[in-house]
Amino acid sequence: MRFDRIPSFQMKWASLDEVGLALSLFCPYPSQQPRTGLAPLPHHAHLTASRRVQLIMAPRLAIDRHTLRMIAISFVLLSALTIHRLWFADDPNASDVLVIQGETMGTTYEIRIAGEELDERLRLTVEQIATKRLAEVDSWMSNWNPESDVSRFNAARTTDGFPVSYETAAITAYAVELSKWSAGAFDISVGPLVRLWGFGYHPRMGEAPTTEEISDAMSRMGARRLRVGRGAPNTNGFLRKSDPALEIDLSAIAKGFGVDHVSDGLFKLERFDFLVEIGGEVYAAGERPGGGPWRLAIEKPTDLEFEGRVVQSIVELQDQAMATSGDYRIFYTENERRISHTIDPRTGYPVENGPASATVIAGSATEADAWATTLMVLGDPEGLALAEEWEIAAMLLVRGEDGELIVRRNALFPETEIP
Ligand code: ADP
Ligand code: MG
Repeated sequence: MRFDRIPSFQMKWASLDEVGLALSLFCPYPSQQPRTGLAPLPHHAHLTASRRVQLIMAPRLAIDRHTLRMIAISFVLLSALTIHRLWFADDPNASDVLVIQGETMGTTYEIRIAGEELDERLRLTVEQIATKRLAEVDSWMSNWNPESDVSRFNAARTTDGFPVSYETAAITAYAVELSKWSAGAFDISVGPLVRLWGFGYHPRMGEAPTTEEISDAMSRMGARRLRVGRGAPNTNGFLRKSDPALEIDLSAIAKGFGVDHVSDGLFKLERFDFLVEIGGEVYAAGERPGGGPWRLAIEKPTDLEFEGRVVQSIVELQDQAMATSGDYRIFYTENERRISHTIDPRTGYPVENGPASATVIAGSATEADAWATTLMVLGDPEGLALAEEWEIAAMLLVRGEDGELIVRRNALFPETEIP
């Protein structure tokens, strides 16, 4: 098998269609290579410790130092209590699998390697690969690292082409394509709204944004104001914004790219049976220990951390990626409304009464991650139908009238085992 997947191309300013075509060449997974014009990619960004935290705030909170400290302490405690949305349904004997864990992007990661020679030397090598590749992702796509491509591009008040890594350009190009396909439901220029509604770097402490603030934020958005120029691998790509105030936020796609980037490193090491998971987004390569597809549990959405985790269903994956987005881990309630961290860029408001969760199976974790967020915005039936058109397998859990969870899936999503 060969993995030198990226043909070189001439640097130029690409139209969006050209970018879509280019992207179809960027999939790290040999078995998934070019499908219909789209494809995958990479990448990451990120989430603070609050990422896995359920934050319940009163609407008009006067924040003093003490309250701030208490909020910070609660974040830490809640984060510590938090759990993966996906975990492994089978727990093979320790000797059958090498497990490596760590932290990245404000969440945790886990790598499981099956196959032969699972020794300490392999552990060290894999740890080095993961550390290096995740640091690369951080240096390209983090909104939290002021030196990252994304942070420097956001800070730049210029409409000139801005040099970024090849990978940052590739992921941004895919994100811009998905914006187009989803008619703006997925939009990486959503940063000003994310801040306004109190997600991302700082939780909001104060009143709900006014309609003026919302329309002001929206006036600085729009993926159409973004152009991407891609170079060859190991050379720069370029981003260009037609409005100097435009910002990008790759948080909805970054963990997925992180998974793909680490997986690519494992393939290069000639390991073909492994799982890579970051914060619930996963790629399952080859077979689990003992043979057969990897088995992953999808967590049932529950609002309270202390209810513990309940398996909703079990999915088998082989050379496929899966991602889950949900409004049940990160949200706050205000006047009885559930304010989700997924924002509908078309309205400027957080998604309300959307699905409890969206699970996507795709050829790459980058695609799965981005589509899961898109489906949280589009919901049922529009999102499921759009995903199917793009050959993306999707399942939503929607809340019925009495709060019960109803499963909706498109024709591509496999039958799952209900434990
Ligand atoms: P989940 O794990 O639930 O999918 P992600 O971390 O993947 O959540 O994405 C949530 C983040 O994506 C938000 O914190 C915000 O930065 C960004 N985001 C929110 N709404 C959108 C949207 N409609 N399009 C693109 N990015 C979004
Ligand atoms: Mg996502």
